[in-house]
Amino acid sequence: MSKIAFIGLGNMGLPMAKNLVAAGHDVAGFDLSAEAKSALKEAGGAAADTIAAAVSAAEVIVSMLPAGKHVSAVYTEAEGVLAQAKAGALLIDSSTIDVDTARAVSAQAEVAGFAMVDAPVSGGVGGAAAGTLTFMVGGTATSFAAAKPYLDIMGQNIFHAGAAGNGQVAKICNNMLLGISMIGTAEAFTLGENLGLDAQPLFDISSTASGQCWRMPSYCPAPGPVPTSPANNDYQAGFTAAMMLKDLLLAQEASASASAATPMGQRAAELYTQMADAGHAELDFSGIIKEL
Ligand code: NAD
Repeated sequence: MSKIAFIGLGNMGLPMAKNLVAAGHDVAGFDLSAEAKSALKEAGGAAADTIAAAVSAAEVIVSMLPAGKHVSAVYTEAEGVLAQAKAGALLIDSSTIDVDTARAVSAQAEVAGFAMVDAPVSGGVGGAAAGTLTFMVGGTATSFAAAKPYLDIMGQNIFHAGAAGNGQVAKICNNMLLGISMIGTAEAFTLGENLGLDAQPLFDISSTASGQCWRMPSYCPAPGPVPTSPANNDYQAGFTAAMMLKDLLLAQEASASASAATPMGQRAAELYTQMADAGHAELDFSGIIKEL
């Protein structure tokens, strides 16, 4: 069993840390919120007062933080992970952050003598609780192999996407595609309805014809055809429009940085910004159909 430090015990981090505890690991958690730390303690983990206290004896350090600036601070500040962790500790950042920060922090970790992987997830809070997340991992083959036994506890599908930062690249490319294709699906149902075609026959036809995609059987944005989709529950999330917008903006930032043309991704970011500005950021992202 390993000594693990877990930094960032929010909606995702807490259930992930609990799964490591349940697997028998010795987990010390740190978060700015005392409540979050108490919740880990109740589940059999330990609550640390500082990053240093959490990481000083840890063999593995996992973080699950909101954005690049938090990851950069937690790892690189004077009292942060790189200064306080013991030699040989393995670093796993599972936050969804910008590619440039992921690569910069990983490079600093390497200079400080640590192996680090970026390992963002998809699967949401339900997947975190059930231990069925998908991890997209960037880092060396050796670091990936070292991280995998821990990721296997928190997730179901663990992919090595290549060098440092490539986990974040995979995540934003996948979610940009998801956002664009959700808008495309919503547009098709909206046009059909405006022309007098009900959602059910369009669904029946399109889900067996060339318009078929993952959204049809599992996440149809039009109410009716798929009983379990958020469309039949007033668009309660699910995956919020705010989270989709975060990922689309990260994709746009990365596109600019890599001089890649992503005009559909750009338009998708504009449409989800519109949805958020209309006060619907906390609805499910399939609710974009109501904005069209
Ligand atoms: P959250 O806001 O619920 O949790 C983040 C936690 O980090 C909070 O408890 C906060 O107090 C803590 N924190 C912030 N700064 C800190 C610091 N300097 N030191 C210690 N703790 C600090 O967010 P979340 O929903 O758990 O998401 C975490 C990450 O996972 C994000 O990058 C998000 O994009 C990604 N993600 C979330 C989901 C989801 O469904 N919620 C799905 C996939 C990926």
